[in-house]
Amino acid sequence: MDFRVSEKMQTVLDMMKEFVQKELIPMEPEFFAKDFTAMLPEIEDKRNMVRKMELWAPLHPKEYGGMGLPLTESALVYEVLGYSPLGLYVFGCNAPDAGNIEILHKYGTEEQKEKYCRPNVEGKIRSCFSMTEVEVAGSNPTWLLTTAVKDGDEWVINGHKWYTSAADDAAFAIVMAETNPEAASRHMRASMIIVPMGTPGFDIVRNISVMGHVGSGWGSHAEVRYENCRVPLKNLLGGEGMGFVLAQERLGPGRIHHCMRWIGICNRCFDLMCSYALKRRRTPTEVLADSDIIKTYIADSAAEILAARLMVLSTAWTIENVGVKAAMKEISLIKFYVANILQSVIDRALQVHGGLGMTDDTPIAWHYRTDRAARIYDGVDEVHKISVARRILREYKDREIK
Ligand SMILES: Cc1cc2nc3c(=O)[nH]c(=O)nc-3n(C[C@H](O)[C@H](O)[C@H](O)COP(=O)(O)OP(=O)(O)OC[C@H]3O[C@@H](n4cnc5c(N)ncnc54)[C@H](O)[C@@H]3O)c2cc1C
Repeated sequence: MDFRVSEKMQTVLDMMKEFVQKELIPMEPEFFAKDFTAMLPEIEDKRNMVRKMELWAPLHPKEYGGMGLPLTESALVYEVLGYSPLGLYVFGCNAPDAGNIEILHKYGTEEQKEKYCRPNVEGKIRSCFSMTEVEVAGSNPTWLLTTAVKDGDEWVINGHKWYTSAADDAAFAIVMAETNPEAASRHMRASMIIVPMGTPGFDIVRNISVMGHVGSGWGSHAEVRYENCRVPLKNLLGGEGMGFVLAQERLGPGRIHHCMRWIGICNRCFDLMCSYALKRRRTPTEVLADSDIIKTYIADSAAEILAARLMVLSTAWTIENVGVKAAMKEISLIKFYVANILQSVIDRALQVHGGLGMTDDTPIAWHYRTDRAARIYDGVDEVHKISVARRILREYKDREIK
C-alpha cells in the first residue's frame, strides 16, 4: 500500500489547513455560544470564499461543481476539515447531505438529479435522511413500522421517525418505508422515497434536545410524523424494495469519511492537550508536561491516533484498489475502533485541561458532548463487533489450525 500524497493534492490539503486555521477556528467561540441558524450569514460568507478558491464539495461529482476526489484523497480532506466543527459544512461535504448526494447521483432519475442532487451539491438546499424510528430498534434496519402504500399515482406514507438529523429547514427528506411487506427477503421490503418539505402530512414534531442542546437547522435532530403523507410515485429512489441495498451503499464510503473526520477531531484535541500540558503550571516551577502520568496520556493518544489513521487509510486503499466487498470486515472494524479512540482522546484532553476543559472556552467540551454519538449512529458498537467476529469465524470454520 502506498499512502504517498501527490504534490497537487498536498497543495489542496495545505490550502484547506490554512483556511481552517485562519478563517474557521476564530469563528468557533461564537459558534459554540450561538445557534447554527444564527451564524448562517457568517458561515455563508466563508462558503463563498471556499467556492472562489475552487475547493468546494471535494468529494462530489465534477459535473455538479464538486472536485470529484477519489476516496483515498477525500479521506485526507475529511481529516483536515474535521479539525474544526465548521470544516465539513463550510466546504460542502457534511452529513447527511454527502450520503444523500451519493445515492441520488448513483440511483436517481435525471429529474431527481436535477431537482434534488444538483442544488444539494451546490449548497443551495439542504437534505435529511429519515430512517430511524422511535418505536423499533434502529440497530435492526430491516425492521421498520413506517409504510408507503401505492394509491393511484401516489405513495401514501405513514410512520414515526426520530433523529432525522438536519430536517429543520431542509428542502427534502429521503425516507425509508416498507413498500413490499410480502417480499421473501427481509432485505427487500423497504424502499427510499423523496419527500419534499412542506408536503401535507409531513410534520416535524420537535427538534430533540440532545445532550442538553436543542439545535436548529443543520445542527438539529428532528422527531417527525408521516400521517397520510402523499408524494408522487416518481419520488421513489432506486428500485422498489431497494431501500436496504441503497442504505448499505450510503454507509460504505461514509464510514471512511466519518472515521477520518474523527481522526481530525483527535488531532485537534491532541494538539490542545500537548500545548496546554506545556504551559499550565502545576507548581511555580513545573508544568503539567513534567508529570509522567500526563506523558502517558500523550503517548497513548499518539499511538492510538496513528493506529486508527493507518487502519482507515488501509481500508480506503482496499476499497479503491480491490473493491468494497474485499473491505467489508475492515469497514465495520474501523467504525467501532475509531469511534472508541475518539472517546479516549477527547476524554484525556478534557482531563488535562481540568476545569477549563469543562467550559466552552475550548472546543473540547463541545466534542465531548457531540461526539459521544459516534459509537451509536451509523451502527452501534455491538452490532459492528458482532458482524466483524462473524466474518472472522466464518473464515476459520473450515480451516484446521495445527
Ligand atoms: C447524533 C445522532 C444523529 C443521528 N442521525 C440520524 C439520521 O440522520 N437519520 C437516521 O435515520 N438516524 C439517525 N440517527 C439514529 C441512529 O442511526 C440510531 O440511533 C442507531 O442506529 C441505533 O438505533 P437505536 O437508537 O434505535 O438503538 P437500539 O437499536 O434500540 O439499540 C440500543 C442499544 O442496544 C444495544 N444493541 C442493539 N442491538 C444490539 C445487538 N444486536 N446486540 C447487542 N446489543 C445491541 C446497543 O448497546 C445499543 O446502543 C442518529 C443518531 C444520533 C445519536
